[in-house]
Amino acid sequence: SAEMHSKKTVSIDKTFSTAHPNVPSTEDVVLDAMRRRLSQAGRSESEPFCVMDLGKVQSQYERWQSSLRFVQPCYAVKCNPDSKVIALLDSLGSNFDCASQAEIELVMQQGIPPWRIIFANPCKKPSDIAFARDSMVLRMTFDNEAELRKIKRICPSAELILRCYASDPSATYTLASKFGAHPEEAVKLLKLAKSLGLEVCGVSFHVGSGSKDPRAFERAIQESRRVVDAGIHLGHNMYIVDIGGGFTSDTFDAAAVRIRASLSTHFSAMNIRFLAEPGRFFVADAVTVACGVIGRRDAHENPTTLDGPVNDMLYLNDGMYGTFLTYFFELCPQPKALRVSGAFYPQSTAAESSKYILWGPTCDGLDCILKDAELPKDLSCDDWIYFSDMGAYTTCLTTNFNGFTSQREIIYVFSRTSETTPRKCAEVEDVWH
Ligand code: PLP
Repeated sequence: SAEMHSKKTVSIDKTFSTAHPNVPSTEDVVLDAMRRRLSQAGRSESEPFCVMDLGKVQSQYERWQSSLRFVQPCYAVKCNPDSKVIALLDSLGSNFDCASQAEIELVMQQGIPPWRIIFANPCKKPSDIAFARDSMVLRMTFDNEAELRKIKRICPSAELILRCYASDPSATYTLASKFGAHPEEAVKLLKLAKSLGLEVCGVSFHVGSGSKDPRAFERAIQESRRVVDAGIHLGHNMYIVDIGGGFTSDTFDAAAVRIRASLSTHFSAMNIRFLAEPGRFFVADAVTVACGVIGRRDAHENPTTLDGPVNDMLYLNDGMYGTFLTYFFELCPQPKALRVSGAFYPQSTAAESSKYILWGPTCDGLDCILKDAELPKDLSCDDWIYFSDMGAYTTCLTTNFNGFTSQREIIYVFSRTSETTPRKCAEVEDVWH
């Protein structure tokens, strides 16, 4: 019922809760939160921590609204399953894409009703389908015959969305070989669904996470029209086109232009509801990770290798098996100094810099974050550095390898880059998690 959808307020750091003519820059807000965290007595300094800037999430949502207002976003929870991000996006009007029972539970715990959730995993665990059915999360994707038969057995009242093949080969993470029915297969599946008495109500695709080529959206939208036509021809009520995720801050504007044009070329005269499943786009630039230096080994202490001179080395309290796991597959952002020799950075006198190899805390040789980080020369134990743009596929991928904790303390702040004040953030308090 509508009552179930009670709006949540988001707790934020009170210092920056309201827009002000002299409002500090988004970076200042985050820096200040980190400095205050490190100045607080009695807190463990041995663990890394994160600052989540909800103002950036809101800014990205507003960007979406100004370019793709007619495409309903369903935030891909997997990207950063943070309950405050979910509550904020809910308050702004986003719906949600969940991949599992746990994600559905997390979203519904925020008071979000089941019809605002899409279970967008083409190969679901039978017990997860049963849970979705019992929770009335009926909209779910499929791309193969076994899944159709599984859904027929467990949840015959599902509103099915056929996940179709799409590919941007230049995406950071391609999904094309794992998911998506190819055109001929799509028609066979639509026929099988019909013969099983299952309702297919639309199509979806995902061009790949970290997509770089907006033409991939054009190709996929064009193909979607064919599948929608085939479905209608077979008697399905096809009214959803879900353009998936893959958006980044850098590529969004160019992708939006082409998406607008191709949706209007291929679907103009039709009564279609457009959905999308952005993950990275909403959260990537919202998280900063602060890491403590726990060890140092100078270049002259290192063995000479065949690869030439070796940089000085720093050992951090976070690494590839922690928040940085995703950087096994993509380039890690460059860090900056936060607190050096007890004083917060940048200090008044410009320090000389040095190139470092940054290692994580485990005993594993692959646990190397960067080989050429440029940081102040005199960094040592108990100094701190930070990495920006760490919001996507980071805190959700941490492991306990070598006994290091996978939990991360998260400090929430709300900087604003636009004129608007935070909308649903009336309840204001300091939050330390
Ligand atoms: N939707 C589905 C089905 C996905 O598998 C993913 C990511 O893997 C997403 C959405 C989110 O993608 P992105 O974070 O690239 O927007």
